[in-house]
Amino acid sequence: MPSSDGQPAKQKLTGRGTSLQLKNRFEKIELESTFDQLEPEDVQLVGKIKTEYFDDDSNTVVSENQSPDVDFRYSLNPYRGCVHGCSYCYARPTHEYLGLNAGIDFESKIFVKREAASLFRKWLSRKKWPDQVEPVMLSGVTDCYQPCERELKLTGQCLEVALEFNQPIRITTKNAIVTRDIDLLESLAEKNLVVVTVSVGTLDQSLVRVMEPRSSSPQARLKAIEQLSAAGVPVKALVAPIIPGLNDAEIPSILNAVAEKGASRAGYVMLRLPLAVEPVFVDWLERHMPDAQEKILGRMRALRGGKLYDSDFSQRMKGTGIWAQQIEALFKLHLKKSGLKSGTPQLNRDRFCVPEVDDGQGRLF
Ligand code: SF4
Repeated sequence: MPSSDGQPAKQKLTGRGTSLQLKNRFEKIELESTFDQLEPEDVQLVGKIKTEYFDDDSNTVVSENQSPDVDFRYSLNPYRGCVHGCSYCYARPTHEYLGLNAGIDFESKIFVKREAASLFRKWLSRKKWPDQVEPVMLSGVTDCYQPCERELKLTGQCLEVALEFNQPIRITTKNAIVTRDIDLLESLAEKNLVVVTVSVGTLDQSLVRVMEPRSSSPQARLKAIEQLSAAGVPVKALVAPIIPGLNDAEIPSILNAVAEKGASRAGYVMLRLPLAVEPVFVDWLERHMPDAQEKILGRMRALRGGKLYDSDFSQRMKGTGIWAQQIEALFKLHLKKSGLKSGTPQLNRDRFCVPEVDDGQGRLF
């Protein structure tokens, strides 16, 4: 079917956020491949590309960031890559450090840190940590509750370690699998050691199916908020990313819905398109939103001083200009109307202690 500009519309993809085999910015040799040359039935096969899992033998599992606009310093990533496959995912370019691409590789080649819990235990046992304890975020560049967590349980094991040490933890996810760890989360919450952020960028299931194809449905995320809140776990909702012209009008209904389910706080982040994320997202718009594409890209440029992305720390999370102001005003108004607070609750850092471990010879250390 032709798009509004008379050009043949790109084939929609099912089951994956992108089909793009992008050039790795660190690689000198380029392999060209485009799914536009394939027949429609073959394009559908992209959604059937098998997800591969690889062991990641990194000797550390916690990373530190110095970004002045990120409100956590330490993050723990049990996985690299994310099968949820969100078309806009800002973490996509991290796969290029592995010699892979930020397109289909990011969502189909997942690296698994099987030793995550023991590496985390080792990291927390460092001598200097008791004097500088602060919350650790799960995760920064992956979703710690992506589907393989059902079987691998690496995030759950890390939560057990956090409970052992009374280490404060923040979690952000788009997957209702988080409720599988509700007992652990409840125990952490009793000591004020955890806050769970559930990302809800739309209530429209048909949009989630193509934009965040392997994440949980909006209804499942709302149910997770309800279950966690009922268990006494503090829940924040993140309306993210806001894509101006696509989901900003949903802000009132999202805030209302998450508040009804028991979330106590909410925040938002504007769409960011660093590096290879830009071509992936633009290609996704062409395939799935051909008629709204120009409007959305026009608003993105209005938010970023004429460009699609500006990495300036002072404005990259919220944007600038009239659309940014309107979105901020709309968000603040409905935050108040819904009885939600902004920000993230302070977690307890004073309970942290390195547990004594029996070395098997009757000695504790
Ligand atoms: S869930 Fe998060 S980490 Fe995973 S693809 Fe989506 S935005 Fe990226």
